[in-house]
Amino acid sequence: MAVAAYQKCINNACGAEFDVSESFFKCPKCGELLDIRYNWDKIEVPAKLSDFGRRWASRNNRLDFSGVWRFRELLNFCDDKYKVSIGEGQTILECNCAIAKHLGMQPDKLFLEYEGLNPSGSFKDNGMTAAFSHAVMVDAKSCACASTGNTSASVALYAHNCNIKCTVFIGEGRIAFGKLSQAMDYGAQTIQIAGDFDDCMKQVQDVCTELGLYLLNSLNPFRLEGQKTIMYRIIEQMGWQVPDWIVVPGGNLGNSSSFGKAFMELKQLGLIDRIPRLAIINATGADTLTELVNNRGLKWNNGDIDDSIINGFYDELTSSNFSPHTIASAIEISRPVNLKKCLRALDVCDGIVMAVPDEEIKDAKALIGKYGLGCEPASAATIAGLKHLLEDGTIGKSERVACVLTGHILKDPGLTVNYHKESEGQFSNPPVQAPNDLAEIIKLIKT
Ligand SMILES: *Cc1c(COP(=O)(O)O)cnc(C)c1O
Ligand SMILES: [Zn+2]
Repeated sequence: MAVAAYQKCINNACGAEFDVSESFFKCPKCGELLDIRYNWDKIEVPAKLSDFGRRWASRNNRLDFSGVWRFRELLNFCDDKYKVSIGEGQTILECNCAIAKHLGMQPDKLFLEYEGLNPSGSFKDNGMTAAFSHAVMVDAKSCACASTGNTSASVALYAHNCNIKCTVFIGEGRIAFGKLSQAMDYGAQTIQIAGDFDDCMKQVQDVCTELGLYLLNSLNPFRLEGQKTIMYRIIEQMGWQVPDWIVVPGGNLGNSSSFGKAFMELKQLGLIDRIPRLAIINATGADTLTELVNNRGLKWNNGDIDDSIINGFYDELTSSNFSPHTIASAIEISRPVNLKKCLRALDVCDGIVMAVPDEEIKDAKALIGKYGLGCEPASAATIAGLKHLLEDGTIGKSERVACVLTGHILKDPGLTVNYHKESEGQFSNPPVQAPNDLAEIIKLIKT
């Protein structure tokens, strides 16, 4: 399969292009984000999306088995021999009637995409399989990332699988235990910085530049190529149909950016005839995107983005010493690195953004646990947001909605236990204390 990809700066005024054999995390000419682009006429893309489904028949082939590389023509930036896979992307799209009814939707319209079923327990593996394939291609020896937790878990897992040394930067006290335990167990050198995620993000870029390390945050454009496949799998599992809405939590905005790019390309290739709408949900304690888009009028504007709106807001954050706070630690980010690509995604998908408070995230998480496979707090922002969007009529009760549940329920057990034990919310299910006595125990059991 011929590789026909190159890197291109998203800044209209620059537009610099680079070979895929290079690795940058920002345009070396102007400092903006880079995109991976393809010369589609040189790639044999299947004529229709359902052709990808044939690969189930040859799933003993590791690339056909991977839920990412099964779609490899659509992320054709490296030769097969470099491709790293540990079985990522074996995820389930569940049509969940119980939650749909609870939200007042038609029962067969709500779909939950369980990305927690990935090898490291979050959607990040979709991106890492792609970025590590690139790292192998450019012969990287040592890599790094900043993380709210799941990136570090995924990086550490892929790094040891391809023999690349790895260092992860986390904000002290800001990481859920399930995730921290993974980074350490998978053998990453873990640097705890006295600061928040945004501080870690800045430090890791400088460290990577200084020491020549391969950077694995979603600034890395190859990661976003892998994350496009989450959308392909949703379409696949809906019988090659496109839903009406995609709902996703917004943190560093890599996922939402990659979803927009996926649909933009599928439309361009004639593989879909309609693009779903995108709803990105922030937590109120980390709502930069919501503030900039809904209150300050920030738009993609054909790539001519008004930087003064962004810089003005970031200056306010700096002068008030703002640090984001939410129990949904995976989206506790106030300077999202993919902001500009996300604006493009909102434009492509006629998207909307909103923020939900922590209490609602906790209740939504418990609802997903009560009636579904469960998820971590950030993922539940989707259902908390959907509830509002149904109530205010933005999303119709008979529209087909796919919510991306980004991380596994076991990532943040501390929060779950407190919610139930301390009866914090609507769905709390505290344990019942019982004496060590049969008659007393029997009295307590509800049958
Ligand atoms: C990383 C992460 C997010 C945020 O995704 P972005 O692409 O950074 O917006 C949300 N949920 C979970 C579980 C995550 O790990
Ligand atoms: Zn540039």
